[in-house]
Amino acid sequence: MKLNEQIDALIDRQLRQWPLVRDNYATLERAALRSVSLAHSEVILQHNPERRRSSAARVDAASLAARPCFLCREHQPIEQETVEWGGAYKIQVNPYPIFPLHLTIASLEHTPQRLLPRRIDHMLQLAELLPDWVLFYNGPHCGASAPDHMHFQAGCKGFLPLCDEVLDPALWPDDERIEATGDGFIGMTQRLDRPLFFIRCERRELAGFYLARLQLAMMQASGSGDEPMQNLLCWQDGDYCNVVVFPRRKHRPDCYGEGEGQLLLSPASVDLGGVWACALRRDYDTLTASQLQALYDELCADNATLVRIIDHFYQT
Ligand SMILES: [Zn+2]
Repeated sequence: MKLNEQIDALIDRQLRQWPLVRDNYATLERAALRSVSLAHSEVILQHNPERRRSSAARVDAASLAARPCFLCREHQPIEQETVEWGGAYKIQVNPYPIFPLHLTIASLEHTPQRLLPRRIDHMLQLAELLPDWVLFYNGPHCGASAPDHMHFQAGCKGFLPLCDEVLDPALWPDDERIEATGDGFIGMTQRLDRPLFFIRCERRELAGFYLARLQLAMMQASGSGDEPMQNLLCWQDGDYCNVVVFPRRKHRPDCYGEGEGQLLLSPASVDLGGVWACALRRDYDTLTASQLQALYDELCADNATLVRIIDHFYQT
């Protein structure tokens, strides 16, 4: 059976046989949704109380060491089934979804969240094998709730507004692309209300090459040897492989919290993709376009950093 068929069968079984999954996906179907228009893009707010465990998760080293890792087999519920891929990953249904269908793709080994060197190609291969899904990756300091256990996630297509918005050809005039060949290009835009790099290529190898160079350029621009702060989206459409990279400068906003005037939001790939899952009803009811824009501005890379990243990209 093809991988995407195995996944469909897995989802089907888990929805029938695992009450927690059945209940949480049914609850999500009834979740309140509200659309907010920013200047050039849409944001969908979702009231999702189950996400509290993720938004409020403590991800400092001491807290991580003290908790049982929920991506390791020995701590997972007995009902959790997996489909293995590539001898290195297990694909499973995320029991606390944001997407109508939501997967976690975790390393079989308990090993830190890190994209380089070989996982770029794993992500691109998986996107090709799973054409109905958008894969995403949260950097270890940018929303991954298990930064000590490598994982991608995937959500069904047609849910994140950005995946359609970014395909608008008007965003990518030939003379504004960073680099292009007959097979694809890499570009950067700030015209969707938050800065992002976009790679669109017919050949997976070229997409991987651009992405690896971008990783290096971001690392050099940050001046640290660590993986750059980032969130990624990756999906295949027809012959084209697409990758969006959001360079970040901050993990959580200054207003993070549950007190008066605070917001319980810990934005990651899905939020930057245009769907903000609000654990608290108060946040869901009151968030405005200007607050959302201010959050994008606070969390994403500033202009000077973007210029440095592009300079370094040309030198790699
Ligand atoms: Zn683990």
